[in-house]
Amino acid sequence: MRVADLPLPDILRDFVIRERGIQELYPPQEEAVRKGLFDGKSIVMCTSTATGKTLMAELAMINAVLTKGVKAILAVPLRALAYEKARDLRIYEKLGVRIAVTTGEYDKEDAWLMNYDIVVTTYEKLDSLLRHKAEWLRQVGVLVIDEIHYIDDDKRGPTIESIIAKVKALGLSTQLLALSATIGNAEEIANYLDADLVVSDWRPVKLKEGVYYDGVIYYSDGSRALIKDLGNPVLSLVMDTIVNGGQALVFTNSRSNTVKLAQQIAHYICNYGAKIIEPGTLMKISNSIIEASQSKLLGEELARVVKCGVAFHHAGLDMDARSIVENSFRDRLIKAVVATTTLAAGVNLPARRVIIHEYRRYEPGIGMEELPVMEYKQMAGRAGRPGLDPYGEAVLIARSEDEIDYLIRNYISARVEDIRSKFLTDKNLATHILSAIASGYASSIDDVMRFVSSTLGYVQGGFQKNEFLRDLLKRKIDDVINFLVESGFLERRNDNVVATPLGSLLNNLYLDPYTANTYIRGLKARDETNDLGYTHLIIQSPEVPRLRVRRNEFDDYLELVLDNWDYLLIKPPITRDEIENGEFEDEEIEDYLSTVKTAVMLLDWANEVSEDDLYKNYDVGPGDLRVYSDLMDWLASAVARLAGALGMRRHEERLNLLKWRLTYGVKDELIELVVNLEGVGRARARALYNAGFKSVEDIANADPRVISMIRGFGDKLARSIIEQARRLTKEGRVVKPSTINLGKEG
Ligand code: ADP
Repeated sequence: MRVADLPLPDILRDFVIRERGIQELYPPQEEAVRKGLFDGKSIVMCTSTATGKTLMAELAMINAVLTKGVKAILAVPLRALAYEKARDLRIYEKLGVRIAVTTGEYDKEDAWLMNYDIVVTTYEKLDSLLRHKAEWLRQVGVLVIDEIHYIDDDKRGPTIESIIAKVKALGLSTQLLALSATIGNAEEIANYLDADLVVSDWRPVKLKEGVYYDGVIYYSDGSRALIKDLGNPVLSLVMDTIVNGGQALVFTNSRSNTVKLAQQIAHYICNYGAKIIEPGTLMKISNSIIEASQSKLLGEELARVVKCGVAFHHAGLDMDARSIVENSFRDRLIKAVVATTTLAAGVNLPARRVIIHEYRRYEPGIGMEELPVMEYKQMAGRAGRPGLDPYGEAVLIARSEDEIDYLIRNYISARVEDIRSKFLTDKNLATHILSAIASGYASSIDDVMRFVSSTLGYVQGGFQKNEFLRDLLKRKIDDVINFLVESGFLERRNDNVVATPLGSLLNNLYLDPYTANTYIRGLKARDETNDLGYTHLIIQSPEVPRLRVRRNEFDDYLELVLDNWDYLLIKPPITRDEIENGEFEDEEIEDYLSTVKTAVMLLDWANEVSEDDLYKNYDVGPGDLRVYSDLMDWLASAVARLAGALGMRRHEERLNLLKWRLTYGVKDELIELVVNLEGVGRARARALYNAGFKSVEDIANADPRVISMIRGFGDKLARSIIEQARRLTKEGRVVKPSTINLGKEG
């Protein structure tokens, strides 16, 4: 099927042909069109990576915007992905389509989105918009849920199901497009979503899969390849790919492994294979990485391997450094990238050979776990660059001869797992039932049953067909409601259930009832505490990634716990005496110490410890800090609002200041500068402050020539911040730390 023949507006067709250079559809894309993609039919597309699902979703959205004047929503699992997708979609602005991206700020309805045609967002934010019942949602004609296999995820899955249930309950008549990697039970998912299914294992480039052991690749089709053994399996496989004109993508299970492997390959290339790289260009790229990196240490570590045509890639890197690596790989200047498995889902970065260094991964609290087949298939799916590589190859590495067969059986020839709903666990039910009631989607047990009946959990649990099971479920829901009533979040009124003001607040703040209970318990433990006590309370949310405590750090953190015993609002699972007398096993206190270490790191950040030291001391990179900063913005203000609602003024005041410090990584005195001025982060704010510009007013009265001389500023930025400062001062809109967010509740 030719793009020129598609039932789309001329400008859109021409655009795809001209700007995207795409003339002909891939077979699964064609099937989607035949099944009514452009006629408003709901469709689940379940095909390998890089088979053009995203393109089809884009065309369906743009087509609906242009021809029907409706809006479209694209929901993705991660914040960083939302920004990436929005950036990709911006090319359609040339057609007059307005693209917006919104994440976080769960307490807002975001009426401004009214003025946009396509809204890119995360599952959580979409759920939150549906809780606020924003008026513009009525105009949504297309809803795309990307990576719908996340329904299997314990946290994100129930959110997706809740979105589906809310869309149904609102009676929105939208076309639903769900995009998925290969899954076992695609048909079941399509049935659940009332959608047609496009399922296919077609790929644009042929894929060979095999297992490497001791100098040989054993392919699943029975053939073999001899590889020059350089003493290290990854190195041997990577060099074999590069000398044959290809590029390699290596997946491993930890950040330290990405660095270590990249260094080994870089060392080899620079010493023995310098002919295959372009040193001059790589030197430039490596300098731009140093410039783009907030942590010079991490930047330099990366720059050193990039000089030899190799890179490592993980979520700790700055966004800019990551983009440079990705683009240089696409331009074939970087020959090999070693990444953590988190990369497999997001970035579109194909390579001739994909090497899976480790098929097991450490899961906190569980130990080493084997990767699911789905994840292997997603990694393998990255093999083969269309138009560049004659074929793609995915290679697992065996550690013993026995493992060769094991890996072929359990990964290459294995069936991909089914996805299973996690909606009906107590915790997820409590979260989403509270949300359904507080947002007005349900006001009685029967309503809640109806709401729950729109979830995959209901379908997979067989409740539709079995009255006995339905009764059990009803009782379970009743128990959950009792728990929410006892917690003070819901109230029974005759046969109905309504949210209390506290319950509504949780719903607006996007807090789950379990975390909220922990927060409330902590706040009630004391009238006031120190910064460590507050930060430690804030990070109790399971959303906050925790730092692991090494054995040799145990004593230091135990001492810190004892020193701050009275101030810690959430106490360890063992008593003070037990700690002092050493009457405990390390495992009993490990998780608790993790929370303490995480809080200490965040406080260091708020005390302006440099990005380099944070990286050195905690292995936390700028990419991680961005994630933490977003979480603090949400959770620290949520705890402050809770304190306000509970009439705890002192807590509220302290938390309102700490919130900004934890979000921006600054001491009190810089809050005014970072909060008010765009383009001023912690480093620039500190430079301004040290140069005597301590308030917005100081800057409004400044001479641009003086500011442009300060480190980190040029003419343009100096003028911009002075202009901002003058405008804010003139309009009386300068936000002062002491008034920020204070006294909103109550
Ligand atoms: P998916 O969402 O399945 O991972 P994408 O839509 O991101 O796949 O497409 C992967 C790459 O293939 C993109 O670079 C895209 O522009 C390109 N592509 C998509 N459809 C076609 C096609 N029919 N012909 C050529 N290239 C295509």
